[in-house]
Parts: sequence; structure tokens; C-alpha cells
Amino acid sequence: MKVLHTSAELRSACDAARARGARVGVVPTMGALHAGHLALVREAKARGAEFLVVTIFVNPLQFGEGEDLDRYPRTLEADAAACAELGVDVVFAPDEMYPPGFQTHVALSGLTQGLEGDHRPGHFDGVTTIVTKLFNICCPCLAVFGRKDYQQWRLVERLALDLDIPVEVIAHPIVREADGLALSSRNRYLSESDRARALGIARGLAAAARAWGDGERHPERLASLARQPVEAGFDSVDYVAVVDPITLAVLADAQDDALVVVAAHVGGTRLIDNLWLGRDEPPAPSAI
Ligand code: AMP
Repeated sequence: MKVLHTSAELRSACDAARARGARVGVVPTMGALHAGHLALVREAKARGAEFLVVTIFVNPLQFGEGEDLDRYPRTLEADAAACAELGVDVVFAPDEMYPPGFQTHVALSGLTQGLEGDHRPGHFDGVTTIVTKLFNICCPCLAVFGRKDYQQWRLVERLALDLDIPVEVIAHPIVREADGLALSSRNRYLSESDRARALGIARGLAAAARAWGDGERHPERLASLARQPVEAGFDSVDYVAVVDPITLAVLADAQDDALVVVAAHVGGTRLIDNLWLGRDEPPAPSAI
């Protein structure tokens, strides 16, 4: 496995792989890899990536003022070792991705409004810009994203379609701890007591899933069941909502396809999570 640091090196490695007839796959990340990221790597291999690139870049463009850009965990050595073990071909860990004078952004409308888009202004423009750049450098056949960042996945899917980028965008379900906490690089910020309080999200999602299983379809009643444990455990709640899984519009009426989305702050750490009702395994019923 190679660890590459410049876009030019990455481009020529991917060009050479394609020239050999290999299907190029890419898994974009910000590093501090955990079992959730590694599941995406395995998924990429299972879905036919023959030359697999994991990108590790803490992208300043997608961090807002006052967010955790400076303290975001950076663990390149351990990340590279984990990737090597899984048969990744290239870890791409650039120091810089934006040339001097950089002034071009890729921005979507519609899907960027609401939820994360409302609470992190500019965040998604940073995401879609860096993802477009990575797609342009690697020209991958497939790319794997996690449903942990559900809105991000839908945006990337839309971006590829709208801009004729010939990449198959694959989404992997959320990987959780045994007690239901969704794995996140930011979980390492949590003290023991914050971590216990953070389980309010798993409890809320599980309560909504249980009600859904009992036939509840009213979006506000489902949202309220999910919200109570989150409000009990967290310092502040950005949103707990039941939305259309395709458009991400907040649902007003009962519908047979629904997604619960949550964002909340505990001990200075912002966590996001979601559950696709009726599709996803409810998080750890033992957490209830
Ligand atoms: P990040 O490094 O946080 O930018 O995440 C890189 C990719 O890993 C994104 O597509 C995330 O959605 C995905 N990811 C992060 N945590 C998880 C998780 N617990 N389960 C599944 N995918 C995840």
C-alpha cells in the first residue's frame, strides 16, 4: 500500500490502475478511522473495487467558524496501518487541496437546505467541492459513503447525477457500538459521563422504531418519542425530525417511508445520527 500526498501522484496511480483494467473505488474520509470507516472499505471491495483509494483529509472548507477544525483528531499512522491490513491500495493524505487563488465552489440547492444545512452554513459547499475534486482526480467507478451522514450521501448522489460524473455512489448503513452509539471520530471527545448521556440518541431512535413497529405513522408523534430521551441527555438539541428519506423534507402527514434525523450537543461535542424506520436495525434495544 502506498501513502500519497499530492493530487498529481494520486491521479497517476489511478490512471495506471485504470489502464490495467482495474475498477477504481474511493472511500473519502477525514481520518481517525474507526470500524464505521473500515466497513465502508470492506463494502467497496465487496462491490468490486479492484484498486481502492481511501482519502484522509480534514477539509477546512467544510468547517465553520468556532467548529473543531483545529482539534479534529489526526491519526495518520494508525489509519494507514488499518487500511493496509484491509488491502487498500492507496491512502491519499494531502496536506493541501486548494491551489493559491482558489475560488471555485460546487454548491447544490434544495437538498442542502434544512437539517445540517441550516445548522452548519457553508458546510455542504465544502463537502461537495472536495468530493468533486476527489472524483475528478480518481475518476472512480464507485465511491462508498456512510449513511451516518445521511444528507451528505443524498447530496453526493445528486451531485454525480447532475454533473454527469460516472461514479456509482454506494451508501453503507450506520455502524454502532454494542450499546447503540453510532461510531464517530468525534466520540473520542466524549468524557465517560458525556458518553453515557449521548446514549439518549440511541434511546430516542429505538423508541421511534418501536412505535413504528407498532404501527405508528404520525411524523410528529414519532419525532416526539425520539426527542424526549435526546432532550433528557443532551445540553442542547439542534433538531430531531422525521423527514422524507428521499427529499429530506420534514413530513407533515403519515407516510410509509420515513427517516428520523437527530443532531444535538453534549459536553461541547456535536453528534448526529439517524434511523430509516422499517429498514434499519433499531439501535441496541438493550439501551432502552
Ligand atoms: P468522516 O471521516 O466523519 O468524514 O466520515 C467519512 C465517511 O465515513 C462518511 O461517508 C461517513 O458517513 C462515514 N461514517 C462515519 N461514521 C460512520 C458510521 N458509524 N457508520 C457508517 N459510516 C460512517
